[in-house]
Amino acid sequence: MNGLAGYAVCELNSRGRRYDEPAPAGRSEFQRDRDRIVHSTAFRRLEYKTQVFVNHEGDLFRTRLTHSIEVAQITRTVARALALNEDLAESIALAHDLGHTPFGHAGQSALNACMRPYGGFEHNLQSLRTVEVLEEHYARFDGLNLMYETREGILKHCSPANAAALGVLGERFLKHTQPCLEAQLANLADEIAYNNHDIDDGLRSGLITLEQLRAVDVFSAERAQVEAMYPGVSGRRLIHETIRRMINLMVLDLIEQTRTNIRAHGVITLDDVHAAPQLVAYSEGLFPRLRELKTFLRENLYHHYQVLRMTDKAKRIVGDLFDAFHGDPRLLPPQYQARAKGDTPRAIADYIAGMTDRYAMREHRRLFAVGEIH
Ligand code: MG
Repeated sequence: MNGLAGYAVCELNSRGRRYDEPAPAGRSEFQRDRDRIVHSTAFRRLEYKTQVFVNHEGDLFRTRLTHSIEVAQITRTVARALALNEDLAESIALAHDLGHTPFGHAGQSALNACMRPYGGFEHNLQSLRTVEVLEEHYARFDGLNLMYETREGILKHCSPANAAALGVLGERFLKHTQPCLEAQLANLADEIAYNNHDIDDGLRSGLITLEQLRAVDVFSAERAQVEAMYPGVSGRRLIHETIRRMINLMVLDLIEQTRTNIRAHGVITLDDVHAAPQLVAYSEGLFPRLRELKTFLRENLYHHYQVLRMTDKAKRIVGDLFDAFHGDPRLLPPQYQARAKGDTPRAIADYIAGMTDRYAMREHRRLFAVGEIH
């Protein structure tokens, strides 16, 4: 009818929005979700947040904004091939990193350590909190009032304690059931995007080399094809031709294996999806090759001493900021002071998580560098 598979999420089988709103004119409910995410404040901040490289290190590296757009591109391709809800899948992809702290994983683990006595800090949960509570866009409600399935997809992981506090949305983590296919898909598209762009950024930065990548089968096999087809090709063209083939390999494998899994489990409806094991998956042939790639990136890029020096600094900045605000909440900007009257540590975590890399560095200077008052 609408061109979607029976197991796709659609407006008819959706659990809808928390606050009733009139149906949108000229677009679907899930298109409206995507549009709300694109217009949100947290989405714009992604431009100045990073995963591996700090934002000011170079103009050519990925930021969380370009990463999210790459995830959305891959997600849409697979969603369309599998007749899933492309608008929903795209919404989840664009929103998946909204709750990320400045300085990528280093910032997240530092903030989690600071928040340990106060319920911890999980970036997936913070992405959900951003679209449910923190965005101030609409007169009638806090957050963006997104469709249930969009919120379900944003909440990729969650601890059992936090899941229990979330009600219906947290149930699947306690019952170990699966989210919709669009959510499963955005999750793996995230991984395809960063595994590939981290190779590109890693090579560009000089922290890893083409020579080292000879040891990674999934890279060297695609590279050999490029060199056979274009003898003498080198530099950026060799890297890009190889990476585009790797992305293609992973995407096609994902589509094929997911189709096979859907058939094998006799999945016909959305309820079947929830009851089945995870259906969006790589083939058994590709999986170990991807694991090898991830191990390579962890050992050679994420744990490179220059990256570790940067993440160490980032952790110190986040820790210092938290301690200063926690020691004296009057140092917070007025709107966060008002929030801090309810739950001070959570208001501080919200403030820090919302910072971009450069804002966090500036705020650290304002609090700790002796200089003019500003
Ligand atoms: Mg991501």
